Amino acid sequence: MSNQEDQPDPTGNNDHLIKSADSQHPANLIPELCRKFWTLGWVTGTGGGASIRNDDLVYLAPSGVQKELMKPEDIYVLALSQQVDPKQRIYLRSPPAFKPSQCTPLFIAAFTKRNAGCCIHTHSQWAVLVTLLLETVQSDLFEINNIEQIKGFGKGFQKQGNLGYHDTLKIPVIENTPHEEDLTESLEEAMNKYPDTYAVLVRRHGIYVWGETVHKAKTQAERFDRPLFMEGNSADVF
Ligand SMILES: [Zn+2]
Repeated sequence: MSNQEDQPDPTGNNDHLIKSADSQHPANLIPELCRKFWTLGWVTGTGGGASIRNDDLVYLAPSGVQKELMKPEDIYVLALSQQVDPKQRIYLRSPPAFKPSQCTPLFIAAFTKRNAGCCIHTHSQWAVLVTLLLETVQSDLFEINNIEQIKGFGKGFQKQGNLGYHDTLKIPVIENTPHEEDLTESLEEAMNKYPDTYAVLVRRHGIYVWGETVHKAKTQAERFDRPLFMEGNSADVF
């Protein structure tokens, strides 16, 4: 990490929190991840995003930004321990333009309820299609087993190791709401009902995937996408 992070800036906006020469610093990594996700069609049209937690600090992409063009200066930073009222969120650092993302309370749910280090939200067409297929059978649970891709998913919160080929991966589906922030309650309910899940699908919308680290969150998001959907579609799950 750069020494720049230890030097408060004179503007009072704590810009030192998003300045680092380290490519793995969250303020550099979030734009880099979003550029990659954009090429997959996961975060096009300013939708979707990613957030990284580093101990108490949470780094967030803003609302309405072109995700493939995002820069470290666009990143919001907050301290989890300073949050008292979700309706009056306290930010340590805010970009000069943009507004906070409506995904913020959902990302924070993954950090506080699951101790996640990273949460990724995509508008993947495959995630949307899975929810549409499940809708035809009035199901709010995606289940799949005997498929190679599930070996990339952890066994569950505070459990060691990953799922095996014959284990069953379960991902709950919640219903979409007109405003993304209003998904928070049902996302938390799904987390309570399926404590081992690392992802929640949002019907006709996309998916939230988290992990203890950026690496794990990214791996699980990739494992869920097209290959799993295609195999799931041909298997006995619908
Ligand atoms: Zn969304």
